[in-house]
Amino acid sequence: MVVTQVQTYPIAETFHSLQGEGAWAGTSAFFIRLAGCDVHCPWCDQKETWNARRYPLQSVTELGELAQSCQPAIVVITGGEPLMYDLTALTKELKKRGLRRHLETSGAYDWSGDFDWVTFSPKTYKLPKLSIYEKVSELKVVISNTTDFSWAEQQALCIPSTALQYLQPEWNYPESQALIVNYILQHPQWRLSLQSHKFLGVR
Ligand code: SF4
Repeated sequence: MVVTQVQTYPIAETFHSLQGEGAWAGTSAFFIRLAGCDVHCPWCDQKETWNARRYPLQSVTELGELAQSCQPAIVVITGGEPLMYDLTALTKELKKRGLRRHLETSGAYDWSGDFDWVTFSPKTYKLPKLSIYEKVSELKVVISNTTDFSWAEQQALCIPSTALQYLQPEWNYPESQALIVNYILQHPQWRLSLQSHKFLGVR
């Protein structure tokens, strides 16, 4: 007898809101936040998600039903670092339900899954795997000091020419906003990404 294993993932939270960042900012989005991350960015605003063992497992069917019931324009799979898990089953389930699948990742783990849009936010604290670069739809680099600009340029050399390029201020370092504005005036291939959900006071 063949036993089919139910695919589950540790889930920190799911919620329906607006996408706050990048090219899809302002769009109705259902967020699936997977728990677990060992990239350990010092300024991370999701530190409580790092330890996956603190969170319950949810099945792909359950997650698909939750997402579909909200009728969002997009489903954003985020974290944590979602690529710590094989995302094949989850993206298959969402596709079966006619949902548009977006990923937000640091690229620190090997590629898996099938996505309509990939937001790549590389971090120097754990370097990206090569498998991410050809998948990138938008590059989003968080700027917390001036040395981050050279990291951003280095990463931009590796992505498809069609990918959009965003610089995003680190929320706790407001001075980075002026640094980015000045940088974009000199380097017009870059755009500004703001965490608009934080300005709006929504999740
Ligand atoms: Fe936090 Fe994302 Fe960095 Fe992980 S990769 S530590 S979730 S900002």
